[in-house]
Amino acid sequence: MNNSRICPCCGSTNSEEWTKATDREYRTTNEEFTLYRCSECLSIFLHPVPVHRLSEIYPSNYYSFADQKKSFIADIKTWLDKRFFRSLTGKFTSQSLSALDIGGGVGWELNVMQSADTRVQNTMIVDLDPDAAEGAKKNGHGYFCGRIEEYSTVQKFDIILMLNLIEHVEFPLEVLSKARELLSDNGIIVIKTPNCDAWDARLFKYKNWGGFHCPRHWTLFTKESFELCAKKAGLNAKEFSYTQGAPFWATSTLFFLENMGLVSITRERPVVYHPLYAPLTGLFAGFDFARGLFAKTSQMFFVLGK
Ligand SMILES: [Zn+2]
Repeated sequence: MNNSRICPCCGSTNSEEWTKATDREYRTTNEEFTLYRCSECLSIFLHPVPVHRLSEIYPSNYYSFADQKKSFIADIKTWLDKRFFRSLTGKFTSQSLSALDIGGGVGWELNVMQSADTRVQNTMIVDLDPDAAEGAKKNGHGYFCGRIEEYSTVQKFDIILMLNLIEHVEFPLEVLSKARELLSDNGIIVIKTPNCDAWDARLFKYKNWGGFHCPRHWTLFTKESFELCAKKAGLNAKEFSYTQGAPFWATSTLFFLENMGLVSITRERPVVYHPLYAPLTGLFAGFDFARGLFAKTSQMFFVLGK
C-alpha cells in the first residue's frame, strides 16, 4: 500500500491497481497511466495526475474549445438541454435568477438556459481557458479566468452548473465545498459526471474505455461514492438519474475498430472528429436509451442542494 496514493473522493489510502490506459483519443502522449480503484468507496482514479501538463494534455483541437457546429445531433442536444433546464428553473419562484457555469467555456450551456427561461439574467463563467473570455463576454456572461478555488465574490448563485467537470479536477471535495459556498440558500448545483459502475466501463476496462478519457479524467465516481463526497462538502442529492453515455460507447468502439486495423486515429484527427464518431454516437444513443430503462448507463446527473 502506498500512503501517498489517496482517493480523491473519500480520502482512503487503501486502493489497488485497476488498469492502465493512454491517450488514444487525442494522441497527446504515448505514456501509459495507471488507474487505481479505491477499496473503500470504489471510485477509480488516476495516479499521479499530470497536473503540470495541462497545455500538453488539452490540445488546441480539444472538443470543448471548438465552436459548436450546426448539426442534427447538436440540435437534438440543444432541445434536450432546454427541456432539462426548464425542469430545473421551473422550481424557482423568483423574478430573476443567477447562474454560474464552472468550466463553461464561452457559455454555450448558459445561452441555452437563458433561452429556456428568460428569468436567468445574471450569468457568470469560471474557466481555465483564457481564449474563452472574449466569446463569453460577447454572449453577455461575466468571465473569471482561473480555478474555481481562486474565484471570490460576495454574490450567491441560484444555479451552478458543473457539467462534466468534477472528474477533471485534482481535488473534487474542495471544488464541491467552494460551489456550496457560492450557492444561494435554495440554490441547486447540477452535476454531470461519468459512472464507472457501468457495463461498458467493465467491458472496455483493458481497452481504454471511452469514459477514462485518459489522461484528462482524474476521478471516476459511482452513484454512491459521489454522494459520499457531496455529503462531505455539505451537499445532498435532491435528484439523481443515469443518463446515456453514447460518446463513451462511440469512443470505445473506435478504439476497438482501430485494434482491428479498420480505422485510424491521429493527433490531427482525434476520435471526436472521426467521420464514424457522429453516426456511432447516434446509434449508441438509441441503444443506451433502451438500456437505460433497466440498467445503469455510463453518465450520471445529480442535482445537489444544501
Ligand atoms: Zn475512496
